[in-house]
Amino acid sequence: MRVLVVEDEAALRDSLKERLGEAGFSVDVARDGNEGLFAGLEYPLDVAIVDLGLPNLPGLEVIRRLRAARKTYPILILTARDNWQDKVEGLQAGADDYVAKPFHFEEVLARVQALLRRAGGWASPQLNCGAVVLDTRAQTVEVSGAPVELTTFEYRILEHLMLRAGDVISKTELTERLYDQDFERDSNVIEVLVGRLRRKLDPQDELRPIETLRGRGYRFALPRDTAS
Ligand code: CA
Repeated sequence: MRVLVVEDEAALRDSLKERLGEAGFSVDVARDGNEGLFAGLEYPLDVAIVDLGLPNLPGLEVIRRLRAARKTYPILILTARDNWQDKVEGLQAGADDYVAKPFHFEEVLARVQALLRRAGGWASPQLNCGAVVLDTRAQTVEVSGAPVELTTFEYRILEHLMLRAGDVISKTELTERLYDQDFERDSNVIEVLVGRLRRKLDPQDELRPIETLRGRGYRFALPRDTAS
């Protein structure tokens, strides 16, 4: 999952980048409203975190312009704790949720994860698709009740595919969502990682959880458990 952080306070921006990275996100950062708008328009994002008090272009205006440009990914705003007007205006501008400063990182993470789940049509943090269960909070995966150890990148691929289970995800999209701007992108790497992921999830080649659609991409093929 690829997240944009638009925050002018360097220490806060750096700490969000570091901790979101540890939580499995690829993270792009912007230091002011203009950079944030550019990144929000140009990068293939899954979610954005936007501080409202930004130099050059206010956060509210960044959000309005992103929505006017038909960017539909969820947006979480950072607001001052006692300023209810900010929260209302932010939501009216097109934000989906807010966290008041100062915050605990865990709250930001929980809200971002909830926004991503809802965007994918999931109500619960545990994604159940047939024998495969992925817990987005603990970042664990079980197949038929047995834990499966995945690397960070394998986990990110599986989470992305399962959040959008049933949809075809192109290799380009997966590559763009897995690496931030500091990494070189190579779709051959995705093929290797998906191959490894398949062998770990399905060593006997019985479940076939990940389908390859030639020239189109991958699809998580096991049906969603609608109760979850
Ligand atoms: Ca600020």
